[in-house]
Amino acid sequence: MTEQSRIDIRHVTKLYGRTKAVNNVDLTIAGGAYCCMIGPSGCGKTTLLRMIAGHETPTSGAILIGGTDVTTARTGSRGTALMFQNYALFPHLSLTDNVAFSLRVKGVRADDRRQAAREMLDRVQLLHLADRVPSELSGGQQQRVALARALINKPKVLLLDEPLSALDEFLRLKMRVELKRLQNDLGITFIHVTHTQPEAIALADQVVVMDHGLIEQAASPREIYNRPHSPYVARFMGGQNVLAGRVDRIDGTTAVVAGRNGVSYDLPAARDVEPGQDLRFSVRRDRIAIRPDAAARNGLSGTVVNIEYQGTFVKVALETGLGEEFMIYMDDEDYFAHPHGVGDTVH
Ligand code: ATP
Repeated sequence: MTEQSRIDIRHVTKLYGRTKAVNNVDLTIAGGAYCCMIGPSGCGKTTLLRMIAGHETPTSGAILIGGTDVTTARTGSRGTALMFQNYALFPHLSLTDNVAFSLRVKGVRADDRRQAAREMLDRVQLLHLADRVPSELSGGQQQRVALARALINKPKVLLLDEPLSALDEFLRLKMRVELKRLQNDLGITFIHVTHTQPEAIALADQVVVMDHGLIEQAASPREIYNRPHSPYVARFMGGQNVLAGRVDRIDGTTAVVAGRNGVSYDLPAARDVEPGQDLRFSVRRDRIAIRPDAAARNGLSGTVVNIEYQGTFVKVALETGLGEEFMIYMDDEDYFAHPHGVGDTVH
C-alpha cells in the first residue's frame, strides 16, 4: 500500500479571484504516513485538502497519488475519501445503510454491501449499534460512523477536515487515540487538517505548518518543535521564546551572538551563519533555569510579571525589555523549592 498511497504535490497554486489560497506549494507525503496540516484560519489548508480530494482543481501545478497524476481526475476515481467536519450523515438511514450508501450507488448487491458495512462498523467499534439512526448516537459515535462511511470504499488516502473540532475535550483525546490506531491498522495515508497544535504534534508523522497559502515547514513533530525554521513556526507551535541578535564571531561550532541589552549568547552554529549576520533563534521554554545571580553567558535578567500553575509545570512570565514576553516553564518541584513572586527580579 505504501507506494500507492504516496502523495506528491508539485508547484500547486489555487486562486480564487485575486486571493492566492494556495501559493506554489511543493510537498511529498510518504505512503502510509499520518500527516497533519496546521495553520491559522484562512491559510489554505482546507483548499489544499480539497484539491487532493478532487473537490477543487488547482489553478496550476500537479497532484500525484501513487505516482499517477490525478490533478483533474474525478473525485471518485483517485482513491481518496474525505470525511466532512459536520459528518453529513443521512438522518433517516440506519448506521448500516449510512455506511453502505456509496456501495448502493455503485450497484453492489444488498447482501454484500450489508456485509461490508458491518465489517466497517466493527472496525470503528459500533457494530452493536448498527440498526440505530444517527440521532440516537453521541457526537463521538456519529463521528465514527462518518469514518466508517469514508473508509467503506477502501481508499488509499483518507482526508480529514478538522475531524475532532466538534467534540468536547474528553472525547477529542479519546478519538485522537482511535484515529491513530485506525491509521496504524489500515496502513493508509491520513491527511488531517487541524488548528490545534497538541493534536498535530501527538498524531502526525509529518506536520505541515502553513501560513498565507505557503508551507512554512514540513517535518516530523520533533523536528518542528525543536528546530523551527522560522520565528513564525516557533511562535505558532508554541513552547519557544524567540530572541534576536547579531553574530559576533564563530568559535569552532559555537556562534557567539550579541543580543540586545548587552547579553551575549553562545549558540550551536548553523552551517550558513556568518559574523555580522543578524539572526533570530529560539529557546525552549522548558530548558531554562532560574538562578540567583546573573550569568555572563546565555543569561538574561527580567522581572516576573505573571505566574501560572499548570499542574505538571509552572509558567513564569518575565518582562526582559526585549519586546516580547519571555516565558519559562519550570518543573513544579523546582518552582516550589524556590518560589518567585510577581515583581521579583530573576536571572
Ligand atoms: P480555516 O481554518 O478557517 O478553515 P483554511 O486554512 O482551511 O481556514 P481555506 O478555507 O483553505 O483556509 O481558505 C484559504 C483562503 O481562500 C481564504 O482567504 C479564503 O477566504 C479563500 N477561499 C477559500 N475558498 C474560497 C472560495 N470558494 N471562494 C473564494 N475564496 C475562497
